Amino acid sequence: MPEATATPPRFKRILLKLSGEALMGDAKYGISPKILEQVAGEVREVIELGVEVGIVIGGGNIFRGVSASTAGMDRASADYMGMLATVINALALQDILEKKGVDTRVMTAIRMEALAEPYIRRRAVRHLEKGRMVIFAGGTGNPYFSTDTAAVLRALEVEAKVLLKATNVDGVYTADPKQDPKAKFLAELSFRDALVNGYAVMDANAFGLCKENKLPIVVFNINQPGATARVLAGERVGTIVT
Ligand code: UDP
Repeated sequence: MPEATATPPRFKRILLKLSGEALMGDAKYGISPKILEQVAGEVREVIELGVEVGIVIGGGNIFRGVSASTAGMDRASADYMGMLATVINALALQDILEKKGVDTRVMTAIRMEALAEPYIRRRAVRHLEKGRMVIFAGGTGNPYFSTDTAAVLRALEVEAKVLLKATNVDGVYTADPKQDPKAKFLAELSFRDALVNGYAVMDANAFGLCKENKLPIVVFNINQPGATARVLAGERVGTIVT
């Protein structure tokens, strides 16, 4: 994006949360190669701006612990399966990014040395400082959590200046825009207002952690071409929660 490259990035280090759903595109399951290609292109643009990028990736396009446990599976086992799903997504993203010339490392909260490095905070920071993109897989490594919580946790640990939450909608609305035509788009929002009005920004655990640590969140639509780079250049894109 010409306007993005002309402006110095507003944030030096960012954490991008990519849900599994965002990788699905129009498919009902799995990974859409078209979307993966597009996301990787966006991320490369951001790296080229000189921004240090960490990505926490979800797994909901492959497996969701809560759904499996509702169907009768042991919750902890189901959650571990969900965490493994995030590793599959991380490897797919790494593959395409490396093909685009982006230096990446996958770090996982659940050890699996043959595939990825174990998550070690100081090592993750070092990778970021060296301009390598770090894909954080395996969520928090604990059942009963979500990758939203993992995203906030990693953002705080590596001292990212903002959490970018990529979704399939333009930002936060007063209601679900797909169901309520009167839903109003909110460009700016305080943590307090989001809480008081019950606006869905992230899950409650993750949101609480952000609020407590004053980590700004930008919710934006990953399907909008160039959106990630524009957020970083300081343009008004999506909803900012501060
Ligand atoms: N999960 C977990 N602990 C974590 C992160 C994820 O148990 O710290 C499991 C949980 O079962 C979840 C699944 O992994 O349903 C996939 O993650 P999530 O639903 O957050 O992915 P997203 O909605 O972002 O695609």
